[in-house]
Amino acid sequence: MIDLHSHSTESDGALSPTELVRAAAADGVKVLALTDHDTVSGWAEARKAASECGIELIPGVEVSCSGGDDSVHLLGLFIDPGNPALTDCFAEVAERRRGRIQDTCERLTAIGVPLTFEEVAAQSTGPSLGRPHVADALVHKGTVSNRQEAFDRYLGSNRPGYVSYPWKMTVTEAARLLHQAGGITSLAHARFLTQDRVPGMIEEAGIMAIEVYHPAHGREHRDRYLRLAEKMGLMVTGGSDFHLPGAAGDSQSSALGSRLPEARYRELVAAANGRAGSFSVTSTVPSSTRAG
Ligand code: AMP
Ligand code: ZN
Ligand code: FE
Ligand code: FE
Repeated sequence: MIDLHSHSTESDGALSPTELVRAAAADGVKVLALTDHDTVSGWAEARKAASECGIELIPGVEVSCSGGDDSVHLLGLFIDPGNPALTDCFAEVAERRRGRIQDTCERLTAIGVPLTFEEVAAQSTGPSLGRPHVADALVHKGTVSNRQEAFDRYLGSNRPGYVSYPWKMTVTEAARLLHQAGGITSLAHARFLTQDRVPGMIEEAGIMAIEVYHPAHGREHRDRYLRLAEKMGLMVTGGSDFHLPGAAGDSQSSALGSRLPEARYRELVAAANGRAGSFSVTSTVPSSTRAG
């Protein structure tokens, strides 16, 4: 079983990179990509855990970027986690995310929901703070009873505590960043995007793959994106988008693993192994670092 989309405590997941890798191995996952939001800081720890439990770990990331009015999530798989342009960029994004959380706290406080930056920061041990940590802080204070309620009442994009993120990279910039770091780019959970803009966005940014298998994609979406992949010559990815054990939402799974066929995974590996600067997969157990 293969899972090319997962989150740890380095962004908004509930399990540390070590716990995540162990949970994946226990669930029978053979290949796991760690794809935290806008950070690769979990790689070293996850890699160590993966070599201990014999799972193949792929370095990845999920970059928040903007495509017109759409908020786009772009996966980068087989990236070089030490790529300086990548790590520099993510350091800056982390700083901007912190500023956005500060603004969110001010806005919430102004509407009668007092919250401080420190209370949010206390909910995270990683560098990439986001709205889910604001939600966790509100749960911790007893303002709401769970993450979803926090989004429904305050943090969703049409709710009063929402602070936009206008300084995000464009999809094209994000793809360029990931490609220069050796990454295979894949458009994540495309069903949340304005559908008639998807092909143009993929074309313009040079995105290499599309995430077909995702918990938010029903059969109809999978068929639609398989046809699109065929038509545009894209590779296919899939993953659980796992954040929290036992807490499935609309768009994330409570269990690790996906239906991505192994043949699709092999195509990705072949493409990555043929690219300069990519992480190369040499065996079923991670043993080497990138080539070049
Ligand atoms: P951020 O990057 O800080 O804007 O947070 C985005 C993350 O918040 C997404 O990856 C989701 O995990 C979560 N999220 C966004 N919108 C919602 C929503 N309406 N309900 C629940 N979770 C959401
Ligand atoms: Zn997330
Ligand atoms: Fe996402
Ligand atoms: Fe995700």
